[in-house]
Amino acid sequence: MTSDPEWQARYEDRRQAMVDLQIAGRGIDNPQVLSAMRCVPRERFLAPEMRAQAYEDRPLPISEKQTISQPYIVAYMTAAMQLTGGGSVLEIGTGSGYAAAVLAEIANRVVTVERHKSLADRARKILHELGYDNVEVVQADGTLGWPEGAPYDGIVVTAGGPSVPRALKDQLAVGGRLVIPVGDRETEQALVRITRVSEDEFHEEQLSRVRFVPLVGEAGWQRR
Ligand code: SAH
Repeated sequence: MTSDPEWQARYEDRRQAMVDLQIAGRGIDNPQVLSAMRCVPRERFLAPEMRAQAYEDRPLPISEKQTISQPYIVAYMTAAMQLTGGGSVLEIGTGSGYAAAVLAEIANRVVTVERHKSLADRARKILHELGYDNVEVVQADGTLGWPEGAPYDGIVVTAGGPSVPRALKDQLAVGGRLVIPVGDRETEQALVRITRVSEDEFHEEQLSRVRFVPLVGEAGWQRR
């Protein structure tokens, strides 16, 4: 039922309202981010029984006890990378694949890394169905980055770690930006932006407080 034309039109209306109210309405004015958010069908990244909630202002559960981020957070983190269009982006934490699709609307090339095979497989399939052939979904420990595709103009981590993994800084292009939640595993994290100013010089800023699922891996939290 949720794929019939009447529902499609309803999703389209809700998506535009979501961008107007939750994204533009809260001060995000980057035109590329707004137009990407207007295009990507968030409902397609959810299980059928969750689709009616696709444009609500909150994260939603996916499988493997993970979440699809709140639309505002996806827009905020994407804008925080200050991409200038084109270029390549690395995302750590594919989850549903939704944020990867938003990034693929802006960057020429996106590599997205997910530790859970089932999520990586599912995201790869949906991104392919939607025609995002500029996204590569990799199953690996993203705390080590993905050196094969480096350097990246932007790196975004959609899970919270105890510190900034060295490998991610190393894989940034000069002038590129890394956006990552850093801090306590159970409570809130600080959203940090690191700009690679030169080969060996990095500038770090704290942007806001956020709450993410844990980044689990060699340069992240231990699994438990
Ligand atoms: N960007 C996602 C949100 C995903 S939630 C979306 O749009 O739906 C964060 C994801 O990070 C989870 O799927 C989790 O399994 C994954 N993750 C956690 N630690 C990771 C690691 N070390 N490497 C890759 N993925 C990781």
